[in-house]
Parts: sequence; C-alpha cells; structure tokens
Amino acid sequence: MANGSDEKRPLILVTNDDGIDAPGIAALASVMDEVGEVVVVAPIDEQSAVGHAITVHQPVRVRPWNFDVPSGTAEAYAVTGTPADCVKLALSTILKREPDLVVSGINHGENIAVNVLYSGTVSAATEASILGIDAIAFSLCTNEAYPFDMSARYAKTIVEQVLKVGLPRCILLNVNIPALADIRGVAVTRLAHSRWEEGFVERRDPRDRAYYWLTGHFVNLDDGDSTDVEAVRTGLVSITPLQHDLTAHSWLEEFRDWKWEANGSE
Ligand code: MN
Repeated sequence: MANGSDEKRPLILVTNDDGIDAPGIAALASVMDEVGEVVVVAPIDEQSAVGHAITVHQPVRVRPWNFDVPSGTAEAYAVTGTPADCVKLALSTILKREPDLVVSGINHGENIAVNVLYSGTVSAATEASILGIDAIAFSLCTNEAYPFDMSARYAKTIVEQVLKVGLPRCILLNVNIPALADIRGVAVTRLAHSRWEEGFVERRDPRDRAYYWLTGHFVNLDDGDSTDVEAVRTGLVSITPLQHDLTAHSWLEEFRDWKWEANGSE
C-alpha cells in the first residue's frame, strides 16, 4: 500500500478532434492534471466534423508525443486516425488500466443541436460510453480566437462532480461553454431541433471538371424550453445528457401495429 495515494488518483483519458496540438486540449489536459493522472491519445491532425468515423481500410499509426502539463509531462500519443479510433485504441491497447473517465475537447466551436451527429469531439465521448466508460465532451462556443482557461475551469468542476457521482450506464454528457467573461450559470438541456440549410459552391478544377465545396448555415427550428441552443445564446453553460441508443422507443408500439406481413397473411 506504499502507493495508496497514487491508486486513488483517477486515470483520465484526454482526447479531441482538433488535433493533439490544439490549444483546447492543452487547456483541458492542464486542469485534468489537477484532478488525476492524465493520458492523452488524440488525432495527429484536425479531425473536426468526422462524426463517428473509424479507420478500417488503412493502418493506424501511434506516435509518442511530448505533452506538457502543470505537474510535468503527460503520457501522450498522436494517432493517425479519427477521434473514435483514438478512444478504441487507447482503451484496448495503449492504457495500462481502464480509465475512470474519458474527456474530449475542449473543442474550438460549439457542438449543439444536430451538430452533435457531425462532431468528432462528441463521437469520441460517445465511443467511450459505448465501451462502458464515463465520458464528457467539452466545447467552447466560438469560432473566433478566445482563451480556453475559463472554459477549462468549468470543465474541471463538471469532471469533479461526475467522478464523485458517476454517470448512468451508456449516458454521456455534452457540455457547451459560452465564450463570455460573465457566464450566468449552468443549465441541463436537451438538443434543439435544428438543421443545416446547405449550399455548395461550384468551382472548376484545372481540368475543367466541376467540384463542390460545402457552405450552408445552421438553422434552429426549436423555440421550446430547455434547449442547448437557448442556453448558450443566453450565457449559460449547457449540459446535455446523451445516449447512443438511437431507437425511437416511444414509437415501437405504433410500428408493431402496422401491417408488415405480405398480402394474405391476415
Ligand atoms: Mn473540432
């Protein structure tokens, strides 16, 4: 029991989708270093908007990385894959024991409403939840340059609460933090109903073939209460519990009443 105090320190896997050199993951790893033992396993390049993609048709390479945290140097690895790859690889191969928590972020840009489906940041946390580990995704709600230190303080408080209580099975948290000096508080929210109205700019390549570049803008279609969009727009930290079970449970009985059998089967 000589290492008794060490054994009590939670093991925290830190990942992201902005890449291992992004300022957001440095800020998150720094505050996690105050909470437990940090191991960083993150994409070597930016993987924003890859969603829950995994790499199956090419090898994934892992490179030890020099990653400074306040207590010294964290064990860290850069991976030539997606955020979901990073979590799978870390949990199955890299980590010496099961982590107590997986945190993803802090993403540079909000991940609210339908965007959680496109988000690599959220998908890393979702993958951890699928594999039975408590997980939280953190995003800072701005695309402008903005310091991550205040959002990292919120991340630390939320992580301490989760480590104390533990998440329900297969539930992860999606946290969005406004880029404001005077955050008003914290709200537990649901995903707003929303979509992107797409546009594609058509250009011509040097061989005169058309190519397309996605543009488009986010449209909130939900003016109901307690949405994540409303929370961050009104200066609140938004915490949305998510689950990867996409079954429309409330519609199961309805669809069981439909006539699915071929003609004549009564
Ligand atoms: Mn990102």
